[in-house]
Amino acid sequence: MPRIGFIGLGNMGGPMAANLVKAGHTVKGYDLSEPLRKAAAETGVTECNSLADAVVDAEVVITMLPAGQHVRTVYLGEDGAGDDGILAHAPNEALLIDCSTIDVDTSRNVAAAAADKGLSMVEAPVSGGVGGAQAATLTFMVGGPPESVDRARPILEAMGRNVVHTGGPGTGQAAKMCNNMMLGIQMLSVVEAFALADRLGLDRQKLFDVASNASGQCWSLTTYCPVPGPVPASPANRDYQPGFTAAMMLKDLRLSQDAAARTGAVTSLGAQAAMLYSMFCNSGEGDTDFSGIFQMIDGQSR
Ligand code: NAD
Repeated sequence: MPRIGFIGLGNMGGPMAANLVKAGHTVKGYDLSEPLRKAAAETGVTECNSLADAVVDAEVVITMLPAGQHVRTVYLGEDGAGDDGILAHAPNEALLIDCSTIDVDTSRNVAAAAADKGLSMVEAPVSGGVGGAQAATLTFMVGGPPESVDRARPILEAMGRNVVHTGGPGTGQAAKMCNNMMLGIQMLSVVEAFALADRLGLDRQKLFDVASNASGQCWSLTTYCPVPGPVPASPANRDYQPGFTAAMMLKDLRLSQDAAARTGAVTSLGAQAAMLYSMFCNSGEGDTDFSGIFQMIDGQSR
C-alpha cells in the first residue's frame, strides 16, 4: 500500500484522509490549522508539523486546498520558484494528485512545473460534497497523462465511487466547473419554482410530489431540496448549515465565468447565477449552505 502525504485536512480533506487510513494506507497529514491536524490524528492520520515532513518520504502526495493561490504556494513554495513546496520536498518517483477545485491555468501551470522536475501529476477535483467525502462515494474528474491516471486510480477508489479520466491536464477542472455551473443554475431554478409556488398558494410538499416525478426532476430537488420538509437530509432542515457553502458555489461560478470570458462561450444563465450568489454572499451568507439562497429569492428573513 503506497505511503501517502496529505496536505489540507479541512471539510473535505479530513474525511478523505481518514478513508485512506481505513483502506490500509499510512497517511501523514499536514494543515495550517493545528486543531484540524489534531482532529485528523484521531482518525489515524500521522500528524506532521510541516509540509516537508508530510511529503518527504511519500509515494503519493494528495492536496485538498481552497483555491488556486493555495495550490500554487503549496506546490511551488511561497515565492513561486519551486524551492519550498511539494516539488522541492517530494521524492522524484512520487505521484502528485491535486483534488482542489481551481482554475484551469493554475492547474496546467503547476502540472507543467511538476513535469519539468520529472514528477508525475494529475488533477482530480471531486463532486459529492462533505457527505460523499465521509462515505467514500466521491466522483473524481481526473485530468492528466493516462499512465499517471492509472497509478492514481486505486488511491482515488479508496475515497470515491466514480473515477473518470477526462483527458489531459486542465480537463478535470473543466469538467468540475461545467458540472457546478449546471448545479448553480439548477438550484436557482428549483428555488424560483418554490418561491412562485408559495405565492400561488401551492403547498411545497405537493410541488415536490409532482415535480420529483415529472420533468422538473433534478438533484437539487430530489436530493438537496432547498425548502424544509420534503427531503429530511437536506440542509434546509438544519437551518441551511453546510454542506456546500454559498461562497464555494460562488467561487466555482466565477471560475466558469472567467473561463467563458476567455474562450467566448455563451453562459448567460451561469452569469445570472454568479450575480445572484454574489448578492447572497455579500449579504453575509457566504458560510450558509448554497441552497439557503431560497431565503433571499423568496424574500424571507432569516
Ligand atoms: P476547507 O477550507 O475546509 O479546507 C481546506 C484546508 O486547506 C483548510 O483546512 C486550510 O487550513 C488548508 N490550507 C490552506 N492553505 C494551506 C497550506 N499552505 N498548507 C496546508 N494547509 C493549507 O475547504 P474544503 O471544503 O475542504 O474544500 C477544499 C476544496 O474542495 C476546495 O477547492 C473546494 O472547492 C473543493 N470542494 C469542496 C466541496 C465541499 O462540499 N466542501 C465539494 C467539492 C469540492
